[in-house]
Order: sequence, then C-alpha cells, then structure tokens
Amino acid sequence: MALRFASLGSGSKGNGTLVASGDHCLLVDCGFTIKETERRMARLGLSPADLSAILVTHEHSDHLSGVAPLARKYKLPVYLTPGTLRARDIGKLPTVHLIEGHRPFAVADIQVTPVAVPHDAREAAQFVFRHCGASLGLLTDLGTVTPHVEEQFGGCDALVLEANHDPRMLAQGPYPPSLKRRVGGAYGHLSNQQAAGFLQRVGCEGLQHLVVAHISEKNNTVELAREALASAAEQVASCIFACQQQGFGWLDIEKKS
Ligand SMILES: [Zn+2]
Ligand SMILES: [Zn+2]
Repeated sequence: MALRFASLGSGSKGNGTLVASGDHCLLVDCGFTIKETERRMARLGLSPADLSAILVTHEHSDHLSGVAPLARKYKLPVYLTPGTLRARDIGKLPTVHLIEGHRPFAVADIQVTPVAVPHDAREAAQFVFRHCGASLGLLTDLGTVTPHVEEQFGGCDALVLEANHDPRMLAQGPYPPSLKRRVGGAYGHLSNQQAAGFLQRVGCEGLQHLVVAHISEKNNTVELAREALASAAEQVASCIFACQQQGFGWLDIEKKS
C-alpha cells in the first residue's frame, strides 16, 4: 500500500477527507464540530492528534467551519491559499502555510499539487496527492471541468469525484431560483453528466478506486448518479458512493507496477 484515504462525511452538510501514507495522515477540509470530527475519526481508527496537518480547499462552511477550532485544539498547521485565508474571518490559526496556486508542495512525506478550479469561492484549490509512486485526486466543488483540471486529474490512480446533482431534480427541486442558478452554473457544482463526461474524456481504465462524492441530498440520488456513471463504473476496479453521514471507509492505493 502506498497511499490510503477515507472520508468523515461528504456533502453540503460537512466534508472531511483523510489522506495517509504509512507514517503521516492529512485531513483535507473539516466541516464538522470538534466533537463530531473526533467521533468520525474514531470510526476510522484515528484521533485528530494523529494528523500532521489540515489542508483547506476553499472557504465554504461545509469545508471550513471546523478547521480553526480543530487546528487550535490539536495545534495543527493549516495549509490554504491566500484567497481562502482572506475570504472570511476564519479565526485564529496556530500555524499557517500559504499555498501558491500552481506550485506543488510537500507535507511530511506526501507530495501535494494544488489545482485551481472554477467555483464561487475566492481562490479555490483542489488537490492531487502523491506518495511512493501512487496518486490520489480529490475533485469536488467545481462548476466546470477545465482543460487544466483534465490535465492534472487524468491519470490518477484513485479519484474522489463530485457528482453533485441531477439537472432535472435541481430544476424541479426546493432551492430558490438564484441558488439553482448558482449550483448549476459554471462556478457551482458538477452534475452527474458532467462527472461522467469528464471520466469519458480522461479515461478511467487505470483507476483503482472511483469514489463518487459531494452528492446532493436534495437534488440527486445515488441511483441517478450510478446510472449516469454506469459505463465508467464498469471500467474501474472499485466504484463507491460517498455519503453525508458515513463518508467512506479506508481505501488502499497500490503503487503502479
Ligand atoms: Zn462543498
Ligand atoms: Zn463549495
């Protein structure tokens, strides 16, 4: 096993993804209270004291609300872009590492490549993680798949990919018109069909794991996402659907032979 990953929960009510090498573990985003984070990490056999750092993708509260309290309690360094840091009052952080938009960096023994994505946030970044010849892409919270995104995330060994909404459910659903336009717009979230189109273009034969994530509880169902992504799912070794309450359990990525 080169890299492994798991989720504390995935969706608009809170996100948190664990990315671990043999010796180090990072938490990407934290949209949960301290207590809830401790409880969800315990489910995965860890405590926040085991973390080396927290990385933040952007300032929306489902990704950020728990970051500062957790960082303060466990004295964890936080990595984020200057735009995310300044977008709102995050609260006091013990140690801040500013990420430069396109420049790869390392946290402990894990290499991290930030990738700018179109999302209605000040300076959103998603990430590709590499360790010992294996790579994991985390790609949620974007309204459009750009050529840059395709280039950076195509060829990953494992992928956590947003399939946020079904366009018809979004159109007929409970959100006010302005929010419907935001979610479905170029700076909102990927639909099931956009996620499927992305996988079709970059190819997914080499994927060890495809995790479908950030699935809306109001504007989507696992069944609709599964249907839209059926042909991709057939090509990958494992395809799972992350949920808000359980996230998903540990998945191992083997080094490419
Ligand atoms: Zn989100
Ligand atoms: Zn967001």
